[in-house]
Amino acid sequence: MVNCKMQKLGEERSVIREIFEYGNKRKQEIGADKVFDFSLGNPSVPSPDAVNAEAIRLLGSMPSVALHGYTSAAGAPDVREAVADYIRTAFGVPMSASLIYMTCGAAASLTITLNALCEAGDEFIVISPYFPEYRVFIEQAGGTVVEVPANEGFHLDVAAIGNAITPHTKAILLNSPNNPTGAVYTQKELAALSAILVQKNEGRASKIVLISDEPYRELTYGAQVPYLMALYPHTVVCYSFSKSLSLAGERIGYIAVSPQCENAEALFAAVCGAGRAQGYVCAPSLFQRVTAKCLGQSGDIAAYRENRDLLYNALVQDGFTCIPPEGAFYLFMKSPEPDAKAFCERAKKYELLLVPSDSFGVEGYVRISYCVARETIEGSLPAFRLLAKEYGL
Ligand code: PLP
Repeated sequence: MVNCKMQKLGEERSVIREIFEYGNKRKQEIGADKVFDFSLGNPSVPSPDAVNAEAIRLLGSMPSVALHGYTSAAGAPDVREAVADYIRTAFGVPMSASLIYMTCGAAASLTITLNALCEAGDEFIVISPYFPEYRVFIEQAGGTVVEVPANEGFHLDVAAIGNAITPHTKAILLNSPNNPTGAVYTQKELAALSAILVQKNEGRASKIVLISDEPYRELTYGAQVPYLMALYPHTVVCYSFSKSLSLAGERIGYIAVSPQCENAEALFAAVCGAGRAQGYVCAPSLFQRVTAKCLGQSGDIAAYRENRDLLYNALVQDGFTCIPPEGAFYLFMKSPEPDAKAFCERAKKYELLLVPSDSFGVEGYVRISYCVARETIEGSLPAFRLLAKEYGL
């Protein structure tokens, strides 16, 4: 009667959502200020002022029929031009508006790109730990997920990626700044990856594509985020304004196909085809226009930095082992017992809601989303201390 695969996907809510729902229930039971919910990556700082100012200006000045009507499937021409211009100027790479496709956020950018690329038998390399939806998106596009573990510091193990490449490898999916580790890949490691790919591409019928999933590009604490198109020709950027502009609910982002990609025009046509096949008629018109005026901006990163420093320093002092986050708003902490799920259950006793790393493709860690009010971090510290004591740290 129904597609069983879809039914299963719909019924088994993501672990993160499950914890979030539990948190909402607990908040009703004991009060919101007593629950320390670190589950979701929902931005906690306001959008930059320019976002609301531009939305209000557009609502007051642009004819309603034009503002709220369909745009071209790939996006409003002036918006695509603005995005291309921004990429050229900010990153010093060639880009044409004809290779920009406006989307409903990074999730849509990824599903469209994966569907545009994937043919029967194709493999997609992901670096574990990885955003859990990657598996859903890749498998739904008909591809096979190939996991390559990150190195000890959660950066790229370039040799291992090279070893995982087969004649079936279609693309490598990278995410930097990273969810869930907070790692920001360096110019050096990305250049080394590019060199291996160039070597592996020799004699191949079609070149390996790098897909750069970039919802956290602007959210760094000093680290530079190299632009992959400048390092490797066959690159597709899947960008989102969800996190940088705190617009996660408005569903807006874009795909940028590098003009240096092999058969870039055919690839872009496949992007348009995949968007069409998946029913993305066009990205939200109002927010296409708003974001075109806010390119490169971000919310209050200083607030995330304060949260990061407060939490990281306290947890390390308590005896926990954490990866110092270089970007995004996640802290990846080693579970003091091998079973991270059991650890998260114990943390719940102290109303600490953490996400076990199993759904990110690795065991023995938890993800702590610190995009929360500062008071939540402050309130949680005594609870973390008690939890550490319970483990004799
Ligand atoms: N990719 C990564 C790594 C993410 O963390 C997220 C959301 O948390 C997404 C993609 C999806 O982002 P969006 O809300 O823009 O669809």
